[in-house]
Amino acid sequence: MKSYAVCECGAPLEAREEPTPEPTGSEVLLRVVAAGVCHSDLHFWEGTYDLGGGKQLKLSDRGMTLPLTMGHETVGEVIAFGPDVKDVKVGDRRLAYPWIGCGECKVCQRGDEQLCLKPRFLGVFRPGGYSEHLLVPHSRYLIDYGDIPPEQAAPLACSGLTAYGALRKLGGLVQTEAVVIIGAGGLGLICMSILKSLGGHGAIVLDIDPAKREAAQQAGALAAIDPNAPDAIQQVVAAANGAVWGIVDFVGSSATVRLGVDCLTKGGKLIVVGLFGGEITISTPYIPIKAMTLQGSYTGSLAELKELIDLVRGAPLPLVPVDRRPLEEANAALTDLKDGKVIGRVVLGPTV
Ligand code: NAD
Ligand code: ZN
Repeated sequence: MKSYAVCECGAPLEAREEPTPEPTGSEVLLRVVAAGVCHSDLHFWEGTYDLGGGKQLKLSDRGMTLPLTMGHETVGEVIAFGPDVKDVKVGDRRLAYPWIGCGECKVCQRGDEQLCLKPRFLGVFRPGGYSEHLLVPHSRYLIDYGDIPPEQAAPLACSGLTAYGALRKLGGLVQTEAVVIIGAGGLGLICMSILKSLGGHGAIVLDIDPAKREAAQQAGALAAIDPNAPDAIQQVVAAANGAVWGIVDFVGSSATVRLGVDCLTKGGKLIVVGLFGGEITISTPYIPIKAMTLQGSYTGSLAELKELIDLVRGAPLPLVPVDRRPLEEANAALTDLKDGKVIGRVVLGPTV
C-alpha cells in the first residue's frame, strides 16, 4: 500500500510503498476513503511543541517515532478483519476513533482513553490515515456515521470531537451566553456548527486573518473581531453584552491565552485547546478574585464521539467547508495549512 510518511521532522512527507497489513485477532483493515488534515499534524510534522521562553517539548520524548504516517481523522471502508471481529462486515464504512489508549489502565477503564499515559493514537503513535489503508486495533473503535458524507464525517474524529469536548466543559452556559471562539480555522468553524446543534446562544469569533473572520461571519457569528485591534477586549465584551462567561481558545498562544484571561468576567471559564504554544504569567490573586476557571481540553472520549455523531446526524450539513484532494497532495495540503491558506478543512483520499 502507498502511504505518505514523515521521515524527517519538517522535511516533505515521503511516498512509501509498504506491505498492506493483514489483520489478526480483533483488528480491522480499512481502505481509506477520507483523511482530514489537522493543524496538529503540523506540530507532529515539526516534531515539537513551543513551550515559550525558547523551550520546546520534543514529540520524540513523548514516544513518537519516525517514519510516521500521520492522519487521525479517518473514514474508511472495511476490507478485512481478524477472526475475533463479529460486529462489522466487508463494505461497511466507518469513522475510526483515533485516541486509543493501552486499554488496561484505570483511565482507559473509565472510558478516557484520550488521557491514557501509554497512548496508541492512530496517526501519532501508530500509522494513520495518510495512506491507502488503515489498520485499527479493535472494531470497538469504529463508528457508524450513517448518511453523513465521508468528507464531513472524517473531521469529526478530531476537529469535531475536540470542539464538542471543549463546549461540554462550558456546560449550560452555552445556551444562555455567547461563547467566544478564538481561531476560526478547522476547529473553530466546526465548533460554531456544533454550538448551533447544541442550541447555543451564538459565537463571538476572533481571528487575525480577515478571510477567516469572513468565513466566521458567513457561518453566522454574532461578531468577528480582529484580536490585534487596540480595543479588541472592549469589542469582545461589548459583543457579549457586557460580560464574557465562556471562551474556547483554539490557538493557545501567549497572545490568545492572555487575551482570553483578560476578557473573562467573574466566574468565567477559559478552555484552552490550541497548541500553537507560548507561555503567560497570571497574577495569582486574580484566580480566586475572578473565580476564574482555566482548563485544558484534549480531544474527547469514544463515548463523546458517539454522542457527537448522534447530534450531527440530525443537524444541517455541511458542518465545515471541505476541500477534497487526492492523497498524493498531502504535502501541498500541509503547506497550505501552514501558510494559513485553508478555510475549513482539507480532506485527502480517493474522490469516491
Ligand atoms: P487551523 O490552522 O485550521 O486554524 C487556526 C486558526 O487560528 C487560523 O484561522 C488562524 O488564522 C488563527 N490564528 C492564528 N493565530 C491567531 C491569533 N494570534 N489570534 C487569533 N487567531 C489566530 O488549525 P486547527 O486545525 O483549527 O487547529 C488549531 C489548534 O488546535 C492547533 O494548534 C492544533 O494542534 C490544536 N488542536 C488541539 C487539539 C486538542 O485536543 N487540544 C485537537 C486538535 C487540534
Ligand atoms: Zn487533530
